[in-house]
Amino acid sequence: MCGIVGYSGPQNAVDILLEGLENLEYRGYDSAGISVFAGDGITTVKAEGRLKCLREKLNTSPVSGHCGIAHTRWATHGEPSDRNAHPHGTERVMLVHNGIIENYLELRSRLTAEGYVFKTQTDTETAALLLDSLYQGDPLAAIREMTRQIEGAYALAILFADRPGEVYGVRKDNPLIAALGEGENFIASDIAAVLSHTKRFFTLEEGEIAVATSCGITVYSPGGAPVEKKVHTATWDVEQARKDGYPHFMLKEIFEQPKALRDTIHPRLKDGLPSFEYDGIPECLFKGRGRIHIVACGTAMYAGLVGRDLIETLARIPVEVQIASEFRYRDPILSKDDLVVIISQSGETADSLAALRLAKQRGVPTLGVVNVAGSTIAREADYVIYTHAGPEIAVASTKAYSVQVSVMYLLAFAMARSARTLGEEEIRAKVEELLQTVEKLPRVLEQNDAIASIAGRFQGSESIFFLGRGLDWALSQEGALKLKEISYIHCEAYAAGELKHGTISLITNGVPVVAVATQEHLLGKMVSNIKEVKARGAWVLLLAQEGSPIDEEVYDQAIRLPKAPDLFTPLLAVAALQLLAYHTSVCRGSPTLRKEGRQGEFPKNS
Ligand code: GLU
Repeated sequence: MCGIVGYSGPQNAVDILLEGLENLEYRGYDSAGISVFAGDGITTVKAEGRLKCLREKLNTSPVSGHCGIAHTRWATHGEPSDRNAHPHGTERVMLVHNGIIENYLELRSRLTAEGYVFKTQTDTETAALLLDSLYQGDPLAAIREMTRQIEGAYALAILFADRPGEVYGVRKDNPLIAALGEGENFIASDIAAVLSHTKRFFTLEEGEIAVATSCGITVYSPGGAPVEKKVHTATWDVEQARKDGYPHFMLKEIFEQPKALRDTIHPRLKDGLPSFEYDGIPECLFKGRGRIHIVACGTAMYAGLVGRDLIETLARIPVEVQIASEFRYRDPILSKDDLVVIISQSGETADSLAALRLAKQRGVPTLGVVNVAGSTIAREADYVIYTHAGPEIAVASTKAYSVQVSVMYLLAFAMARSARTLGEEEIRAKVEELLQTVEKLPRVLEQNDAIASIAGRFQGSESIFFLGRGLDWALSQEGALKLKEISYIHCEAYAAGELKHGTISLITNGVPVVAVATQEHLLGKMVSNIKEVKARGAWVLLLAQEGSPIDEEVYDQAIRLPKAPDLFTPLLAVAALQLLAYHTSVCRGSPTLRKEGRQGEFPKNS
């Protein structure tokens, strides 16, 4: 999920590779490493931390050569450390990897039985040692067989010790490009890495294998036939390339959500049922729980609100969602058969960490749902589920929220299974619905332009109200937070039935109301709440499922979502709300977006 650069050419590979990594530095990472052909074999240097730590090591013990691979790591398996940093491998084979090897546990035990000794906790090392076990002098055959045996998402750059001057690349579900220079060639996860050397590149298709040498790049199809690739000329500057052509990281990350969701959900499915074996979590963690406490801050807390509805509905276990900064000072009532779930993107959120420590002091089992491997919450919680959103750079959290919500689904399914509130077949059907919903998400993202034009209507507003019932209320709170956070417009989310007991008098002529009405079983009630605000002159933006029978008189404009079961609409609706927040902010020239993407900016820490 982080950065890869490979080089073969006349210059000192170490300089070129470090420069390439520097260009990828904006993505954020926890460690970096490099392997080059130097002298008789491959020399590898790795360092935890920023690139300067790797540079310092290389300054102390200089290495040089004309061909090599380099990596910045965003850990998913095993803490950030010198040892776990890439490249990984043996004396014969070294590789760097972006992504996740889902069947790494199975491969690891098989390779261990064959006599391999693992030095790291990474999933990547299984691919490296597997490749070593398959290599008998034909790199293409070995890589092809490895790709048949590994499952998951990967972009790999590989060196074989007996093939100096050659860099191999292969990918599945993660990007990898090959770039052509003058007498030098590159493999990279991102064109931004090599733009200062060449603009000529092509993208590798799934299963294709590229071999880069100083003389050229040859590509082979998965079946082994040479492939003619069409070479493109990049028109982006480095800054645009970093954002993949999107104007802001926030938009890029909104569009990354389908992949982030797949990466997070798939490793936790086994035979169509939820399984946290991948995370080393025993099933008994979910058995006999009296109460679940979900504790978090901001967006993560709103993901917890969705989790509450899901767990209570499916597993019939009472759930409390608490703001971490309140929980820690409240002397909460906790019992040993409870479970405290702490959600935090960075795993460093101070109040969430304090809440975790409090729960541990009281002897209650704790589970972290965290995006940053090796972070404090991840280390201190009894159990951890890593969301696989990759680095989140934008100030406003988008993909991290969605993957947190996806973990809530999986937890609710697992708890329902343990509590026997749902049968296996029912859970299987729910898992299938979850997967199908994720595949519908691109259809929401396709409405980007339409949502941009709706956002124009909001730019001059002083206040915007969000209304919803049930899961839509949980979602409205996240939608309101997102919009106010980046557009600086006052936004408030109300449980739709509650507005009349509160501040309906604030709804006057032209005040925008975002009516989130995706819950079909609550539609009648919701529509009468919309009529209440419409009667007071509100300008209503409706967010509802396609084909939902809602009288056109009650709203001014609508965003329609692909049809999905009520339980799953949050995953679709949130993307529409994020786009609305983003475009409103763009219309207002929001400073939050303007700050985005400065050179070398690191992912935020919340
Ligand atoms: N899953 C690998 C690891 O944790 C690769 C992470 C990455 O994409 O940087 O080491």
